[in-house]
Amino acid sequence: MRRKLFIPGPTEVRDEILEAMSIYMFGHRSSDFSELFNRVVPKVQKALYTGNKIFLATSSSTGLMEASVRNCSNKKVLNCMCGAFSDRWNGITKACNLECDQLKVEWGKAIKPEMVDEKLSTGEFDAITFVHNETSTGLMNPLEEIAEVMKKYPDVLFLVDAVSSMMGVKIEVDKLGIDVCLAGVQKCWALPPGLAIASVSEKAIEKSKQVTGKGYYFDFVTMLEKYWDKSQTTTTPTITHIYALDKQLDRIFAEGLDNRFNRHLQMANYVRDWANQYFEMFPEEGYWSNTVSCIKNTRGISIKDLNKELGNRGYTISNGYGKMKEETFRIATMGDLTLDEIKELIDLINEIAQL
Ligand SMILES: *Cc1c(COP(=O)(O)O)cnc(C)c1O
Repeated sequence: MRRKLFIPGPTEVRDEILEAMSIYMFGHRSSDFSELFNRVVPKVQKALYTGNKIFLATSSSTGLMEASVRNCSNKKVLNCMCGAFSDRWNGITKACNLECDQLKVEWGKAIKPEMVDEKLSTGEFDAITFVHNETSTGLMNPLEEIAEVMKKYPDVLFLVDAVSSMMGVKIEVDKLGIDVCLAGVQKCWALPPGLAIASVSEKAIEKSKQVTGKGYYFDFVTMLEKYWDKSQTTTTPTITHIYALDKQLDRIFAEGLDNRFNRHLQMANYVRDWANQYFEMFPEEGYWSNTVSCIKNTRGISIKDLNKELGNRGYTISNGYGKMKEETFRIATMGDLTLDEIKELIDLINEIAQL
């Protein structure tokens, strides 16, 4: 049965895109592919406000989280941790046998610029991992303020997971000085899972040249220099996704980037107003995410039963992440969803939970 997704990934994919994905294959060394690559890359750069190279990786976002630490550090990584995904990046860093240290706050709290400044002032680090939008807690960290601090430390690479915010929130990569800005396409990009995208700065590629033991599949130098001039990827990519990405970028520009970001904010505002009336928002005030609202289950309703009832009507929301499964629930306002669809969902929840 078809269920409309209000979960933080994968998100709703529109029929137009699904239909566009039903194409005959062509070779990734063909001129057809190079033409596609040459159409897609400048559009991604425009959407991310960057002139940096674009890594189209056939993997999920986690692959690029691993890639960025493996390529960008031969000294010590600072992992900023405030929820499940930022905690995961610390786990990845350790699993790659890299030196690292934790900057850790309680789940639901934000990473503040002064905390980062204090850690970096020790001079121990050459990279930091920073999750812009912590999907597990519905918290948006203050990217712009952190970027200001990063300007004091030009030798520290700024690695940003924008998995659940890219294309839902404006991220001006070059202005913010982000060295690696990564995401998967199954969240605010509103495409099926299977492709991950990162902008990678020259500084990150130069750093990668000095780093050994970084593996092959995600080596920035091998992946971004070897075939770049031919407008191709180094290994066989998910051609179907790149084709769909091209179509989706046209749809995104037809709506307009600012309109898209505004629509996300409007949808989030609607959910927050409702949540504040009947429940409570989980994260620290002032840091509520524009793409996923994490709501405290102050009424002690059964989220499992609610979702079952929603499911019977063709809708799905998300329970809390991991340890917060029943204490919180999450409503994603991501991708191509509209305010009307959010209103429909909220009306249904009101009806089912008798609010
Ligand atoms: C979904 C998500 C990930 C993991 O993405 P995969 O595509 O499953 O690897 C990482 N970080 C954040 C913030 C996410 O929301």
